[in-house]
Amino acid sequence: MQTLQSYVLGSWQTGTGGARTLVNPTTGEAIAEAHDSGLDFAAVVRHGREVGGAALRALTFGERGKLLKALSGALHEHREELIDIAVANGGNTRGDAKFDIDGATGTLAAYAHFAKSLPDTPFLLDGDGTQLGRTARFWGQHVRVPRRGVAVHINAFNFPAWGLFEKAACAWLAGVPVIEKPGTPTALLAYRMGQIVVDSGLVPAGAFQLVCGGVGDLLDHLGPQDVVAFTGSAATAARIRANENLVRHNVRLNLEADSINAAILAPDVEAECESYGLFLGNVATDMTQKAGQKCTAVRRILVPADRVDEVKADLVAELARFPQGDPATKGVRCGPVTDERQLADVRGGIERLLEHADVACGGPEPVGDTGCFVQPTLLVARDPRNGAFHDAEVFGPVATILPYSGKVEDAIELTNLGGGGLVCSVYSNDGAWAREFVLGCAPWHGRIWIGSDRMAEQALAPGMVLPASIHGGPGRAGGGEELGALRGLELYLQRTALQGFKGLIEAQFPAPATEEATG
Ligand code: NAP
Repeated sequence: MQTLQSYVLGSWQTGTGGARTLVNPTTGEAIAEAHDSGLDFAAVVRHGREVGGAALRALTFGERGKLLKALSGALHEHREELIDIAVANGGNTRGDAKFDIDGATGTLAAYAHFAKSLPDTPFLLDGDGTQLGRTARFWGQHVRVPRRGVAVHINAFNFPAWGLFEKAACAWLAGVPVIEKPGTPTALLAYRMGQIVVDSGLVPAGAFQLVCGGVGDLLDHLGPQDVVAFTGSAATAARIRANENLVRHNVRLNLEADSINAAILAPDVEAECESYGLFLGNVATDMTQKAGQKCTAVRRILVPADRVDEVKADLVAELARFPQGDPATKGVRCGPVTDERQLADVRGGIERLLEHADVACGGPEPVGDTGCFVQPTLLVARDPRNGAFHDAEVFGPVATILPYSGKVEDAIELTNLGGGGLVCSVYSNDGAWAREFVLGCAPWHGRIWIGSDRMAEQALAPGMVLPASIHGGPGRAGGGEELGALRGLELYLQRTALQGFKGLIEAQFPAPATEEATG
């Protein structure tokens, strides 16, 4: 059995705290262990700030972009080996594994591309300058510079590859070193990718540190120039937000938490519409991809009440196209959930939903004698306003049909009962209906995906997080924001207003021809 080490202070070290076991969720076999803590986190933070930060800031934005591109290539060379690890430790099908791993290398490559629009200066301009005084002599200009701290990235278990590198890409391009902490149950993939990063020699010393196992007292050593970006459950997010040291030093915090995402079928989308097929395919994909363990997966499906029977039958038929089984087997489209804890959580969640819903297919009953399998489960709510469907995330292959009147105001009200979401997807060819829906739901959602016949053939699924669009959402989704092309760098940059003589400011902080304020 492998022992995961942490890469800190320029070497691989094993934690000395208690060990946690990582399993293959298909067979239940123990395959690795990670030790909690035992590391000198004060020194780890100092090493990142002093060695890694200085080295990254010595590079131009363009050079950092080239680093990201080279790293994307170095990781991609190991793609097959990485897929095998994700299948074994994550219970991923090969498709799920590619979604995560190609998402990581693709995001690094995307940020290498975004970097091309940045100037070779140690600062970025923010918007145009503006006259502040009686004449233009007294001038104002905003600039953005890299923060002088470390970025601590705490990730959820469901995307060990993408979660690590989408955050690191933004921090590195901004010029800030990272301390990465993957979710322990699936950390084997992040660990192997960390080894590839280190062996590649591409990332300057101190700019990449990896902590496998618990973070111990790491957060207690952070200060005003540091950043914490967290992805995980709402409960852990609340604990981190309340950390006394983070509060005292106003450590910059970005939280990505859970989300009860909704897919909404508008009344104009009839069975023969292309967007109806898109709706069925996307919902079934979301329910089964990564066994439903996706923060963007659909949990609530709003359907006009007079079409519930039709949609239920069509979705059950669609789900049959996504067979469940050993994720290493060709043709299998839905693997197990990540471990026994997850299995118990999901089965308990289905049982709670069933107090207020009827089964269309699936259910909480065990599947087979071994492995952490949950049947893809489609439910139909008896009362769509019951809090059970809007308050608790069941993080598995589970979704519930909520009947609604077909009126846009009802769709808005029900969708927003989720209390703030990462993404909702609405299917309509009626532009005015879609516009009203967007205006009603946008304050509560980080992303709204609008499916229609005209884009059906080209559409990427709503569950996919794209580097060019922001990811995050208000309220229960954590209130954070990541990615969004160059917007993703904001977390790691300080915006400073310069006020002074226009001639001096414009000479010393000139606007390069290629400068773009945001992506
Ligand atoms: P979790 O239990 O909250 O853990 C998330 C991360 O926090 C893990 O790395 C965990 O480490 C660490 N952690 C736990 N307690 C901590 C503490 N007191 N201080 C610092 N770090 C701590 O979540 P999960 O079960 O891994 O992930 C599933 C959840 O993540 C779901 O709710 C899902 O919706 C959400 N998620 C959200 C997004 C998004 O972008 N919004 C993306 C993916 C997942 P250990 O693993 O070592 O305990």
